[in-house]
Amino acid sequence: MNKLALHIAQTLKDAGFVAYFAGGAVRDQILGKKPKDFDIATSATPKEVQAIFPNSDAVGAHFGVIIVKGEGEMVEVATFRTDGSYVDGRRPESVCFSSPEEDAKRRDFTINGLFQDPFSNDIIDFVDGLKDLKAKTLRAIGNPLERFEEDALRLMRAIRFAVTTDFQIHEDTWRAIKDSAHLLKKISPERIRDEFSKILTSPSRARGLDLLVESGLIAQFLPEILELCGCEQPPQWHPEGDVYTHTRIALSLLQDPPLELALSVLLHDIGKPATYSWDEEDQRIRFNGHDKVGAKMAQEILNRLRYPNQVIENVSLMVSRHMQFMNVQQMRTAKLKRFMAAETFPLEIELHRVDCDSSNGFRDNYDFLNEKKEEFSHQPLIPKPLINGNDLIQDFMIPSGPDIGKILNAVQTEQLEGRLSDKEQAYRYVEELLSK
Ligand code: ATP
Ligand code: MG
Repeated sequence: MNKLALHIAQTLKDAGFVAYFAGGAVRDQILGKKPKDFDIATSATPKEVQAIFPNSDAVGAHFGVIIVKGEGEMVEVATFRTDGSYVDGRRPESVCFSSPEEDAKRRDFTINGLFQDPFSNDIIDFVDGLKDLKAKTLRAIGNPLERFEEDALRLMRAIRFAVTTDFQIHEDTWRAIKDSAHLLKKISPERIRDEFSKILTSPSRARGLDLLVESGLIAQFLPEILELCGCEQPPQWHPEGDVYTHTRIALSLLQDPPLELALSVLLHDIGKPATYSWDEEDQRIRFNGHDKVGAKMAQEILNRLRYPNQVIENVSLMVSRHMQFMNVQQMRTAKLKRFMAAETFPLEIELHRVDCDSSNGFRDNYDFLNEKKEEFSHQPLIPKPLINGNDLIQDFMIPSGPDIGKILNAVQTEQLEGRLSDKEQAYRYVEELLSK
């Protein structure tokens, strides 16, 4: 149990207030998971909380939330409240301090609406959340249509919690999600992105993707995925079926992926529908250039969802390079070393593994790369240059300009191939090169 949260609850109780653990922490403890953070709900008003805990942050006081800080951690202390009317489907206009029961009922899902007495450990359940926790059911509190209309972010949260808890969504809630999917348009890309990222990095991400497709939610923020459904592939390479099936299996094969890897797997074949063609001569489907088209699409999509530039760049690069893995065994050593030296390579080799395992299952390129990794592990893939631009300008009288770069690159290629190993050899090589 969280020491700071317990201390805060005790202090509030000593001052004559009610203080409960609330929301996710109660849910996670009952599920036997370690809670991310402990939130406290209390009868004390924000002003009273601040007076008791001088070391607190009142940025959320307007909504009844005070952040109390301890050694390196903090706890959200929120006054029991009812949300005022939601005018824009995003945030309540105002809040009104109220009772524990009303506070439970303003929350989104029954499993998130539980309180726990920190001292007796009793669960205080105004919303039948315990029953749903036992039955592994995700259900909106109250009338689901109204609750999604109030705040459309709950649509994404519903899928997120269904996936992170592995619960089934109750049929009334599910129907309301489908009927309200269009409301997601009111939510900012940043908030959709944050929920989407949590879904994609959770262990049940493939189911999460299915739920986003079936509910109609993905059509609101990533409609390109729908084009993958029914996009046929050559059966000799892809016995698993269409591009969507391939993508969802590939996603399911990732273990604890960083976000960039999950996104690159999701988007690696996003360019296939746009490049689909029938090769009359070979009597087969082709997707010429789908990697480059896909990289461009990935960039546009991730930009639209306001992912950080570094994420966009890396994912787009991984998508653009994913077909090069088919040629690694034919690459010259220098080219292979440069390919493997990319910062994203450790993620890309995982992308390649799940790309293969979700289709034909051929692992020869994957195994080859792992052997090469071992073979090359004794020195840096890109070792220190044997000569530099100044050497060329001073000792070879080459004017500064594009030729310098070309020569240095040629020297590096020879070095990577293992044909040059010191400065003297490099000089001799440049002399030869210049005499040609
Ligand atoms: P996590 O483990 O991801 O933090 P959580 O349940 O703690 O899950 P939070 O987003 O931290 O989720 O919110 C804390 C609690 O506040 C929720 O359990 C829920 O009771 C309530 N809540 C949060 N967002 C909403 C919302 N959009 N509508 C209604 N209630 C909400
Ligand atoms: Mg939380």
